[in-house]
Amino acid sequence: EKIIEATNVSKWYGAFRALTDVNITVSKSERIVICGPSGSGKSTLIRCFNRLEAHQEGEIAINGIRLHNRMRNVTEVRKNVGMVFQHFNLFPHMTVLMNCMAGPMWINGVPEAEAKKIALKFLERVRIPDQANKYPAQLSGGQQQRVAIARSLCMEPAVMLFDEPTSALDPEMVSEVLETMTSLAREGMTMVCVTHEMGFARAVADRVIFMDCGRIVEEGNPDDFFGNP
Ligand code: ADP
Ligand code: ADP
Repeated sequence: EKIIEATNVSKWYGAFRALTDVNITVSKSERIVICGPSGSGKSTLIRCFNRLEAHQEGEIAINGIRLHNRMRNVTEVRKNVGMVFQHFNLFPHMTVLMNCMAGPMWINGVPEAEAKKIALKFLERVRIPDQANKYPAQLSGGQQQRVAIARSLCMEPAVMLFDEPTSALDPEMVSEVLETMTSLAREGMTMVCVTHEMGFARAVADRVIFMDCGRIVEEGNPDDFFGNP
């Protein structure tokens, strides 16, 4: 079962070519790590997967739905594609609980009581149910990132995209976020992670993709890239 299928994808920002003929297939329960130097197009690629950016050439299909210009069902696609950013992007004026309830209620039309159950279930899963009534600014960076993960999970997406989720964290908070991501991977979540965390890649990735200058230049299992420990 293919969750993401990208074929010969190219993207330009104006005259600048950010992606060139990218091909990638992600199957159900596969864990992909994308690495490569800054500016190589990693973020652009995964942003194309949930239509935060639009590609100009090639094809991208998510769960069999083809992404194309003038599409009316972007929301349908985004429901299937959870995304966690470097900067947590939580709603600052909403409690942790409301941040998590918002998607199910407003996008999926789930009644409030049911949305609350879903939110608490996933806050439990990232092990911060006791923070539910706080506001994001009252939490540590690591806790905020785990809320961001829980918020995405509340939409029960088919795939989770992570865009350098630990890069903005203080060093002592990196491991709690990586542990959460690792436990998701162990539960069979389909994941595409842009990260420089090689220990995580080695422990979790089925496949590592190395990008440079907007192209996939190498692809293989983690041992091929990092050697056996
Ligand atoms: P990475 O995630 O690998 O650091 P990005 O996908 O963020 O790379 O960026 C790839 C290239 O595209 C970089 O040269 C970056 O400056 C450029 N870029 C990214 N976003 C934009 C944009 N909105 N407008 C113009 N150029 C952009
Ligand atoms: P991140 O590391 O979180 O991807 P960036 O600093 O690369 O953050 O990009 C932040 C925002 O700026 C993104 O929306 C990206 O598309 C945009 N951006 C990045 N590079 C450029 C660029 N050269 N010109 C215009 N916008 C850019």
